[in-house]
Amino acid sequence: MDITAVVLDHPGAPLALRTLQMEDPRPDEMRVRVVATGLCHTDISMLQRPFPIDQPIVLGHEGAGVVEATGSAVRDFQPGDRVLLSYNHCQTCPSCTAHAPSYCHDFFGRNFLGLRPDGSAALSHGPRPVRHHFFGQSSFASHCLVTPANAVHVPDHVDDDLFRMLGPMGCGLQTGAGAMLNVLRPRPGQSVVVLGSGAVGMAAIMAARAMGVTTVVAVDRVSSRLELALGIGATHALKADTPELVAQIRQICGGGAQVSLDTTAHPDVLRMALDVLGPLGRCGFVGGAAAGTALSVDVRDMMLHGKTLRGIVEGDANARDFIPQLLRLHASGLFPFERLVRFYPLAEIQRAIDDSLSGVTLKPILLP
Ligand SMILES: [Zn+2]
Ligand SMILES: [Zn+2]
Repeated sequence: MDITAVVLDHPGAPLALRTLQMEDPRPDEMRVRVVATGLCHTDISMLQRPFPIDQPIVLGHEGAGVVEATGSAVRDFQPGDRVLLSYNHCQTCPSCTAHAPSYCHDFFGRNFLGLRPDGSAALSHGPRPVRHHFFGQSSFASHCLVTPANAVHVPDHVDDDLFRMLGPMGCGLQTGAGAMLNVLRPRPGQSVVVLGSGAVGMAAIMAARAMGVTTVVAVDRVSSRLELALGIGATHALKADTPELVAQIRQICGGGAQVSLDTTAHPDVLRMALDVLGPLGRCGFVGGAAAGTALSVDVRDMMLHGKTLRGIVEGDANARDFIPQLLRLHASGLFPFERLVRFYPLAEIQRAIDDSLSGVTLKPILLP
């Protein structure tokens, strides 16, 4: 069938909606009509910088939509079901069977390669194949083909307005919130420092407050983001160019933080995230740095103070369990993520990107 999608011909190329052809679902696939999709920094960086995957490709990986057709082997979903889409995983490797699907041994193949595991392409533009299955979805489109493994049922109590906002829970929001709730696990009364107050950082701040953390320090370059951070739970907000930033943060945290999170993927900022920690502090980082990016650490400081550094993918979250948890936090007023979002027509994706980069919008949501 014909679908419309934002096709990336090569990084930096102008983005436009195009009509593509989509194969019918195979037995283990289902077709989802996209209702809304978030725009994540991983999309933006791939739209702008070269990356080692063949193009053209359809990006987008924070989709929410309605199941339209299911393959013959699909059991858990049926046409009409509302679903939230998250990253894909193989379900059989040692990580997947150990309930750690975000560290799937085939994470790259299932989420970045843009083809089915058998090497086939489900999208085409005339005679030319188009890569898809980005994070198992390629949701910058009117429709996408997904597997049951990367779809989550949306509970009936979620109204349509909330449903349109849910897509980012499948990546950015679960990444930041999961970093706190699943990995770094600060305790009530402790201090947390979040470096970078984009949507991922904001999710981490909301989660930390929900966990009873009493000192939450937000750091960012953009003043308006810091104001919002204070509105959703940060107790302190500092501009990234503040003189003696590390010393100030350590003082605010009473001699160093128990937990820090870097969301910027910049090695200098990640080093700062280690330096603000007190004894036995735990530092997590979630950004996608370029392959080969090196980090310089003070080995003596790390050892003498028992510090831990942990990379985190998708907040260690298993979307099927974690998204209902986030929805319950939201319903209790503890995860007010609706304050981050702003809607754009899918055709205006370039304006959404510009607003995201300038800090005007924390989390753009695109409507096909
Ligand atoms: Zn796996
Ligand atoms: Zn993402």
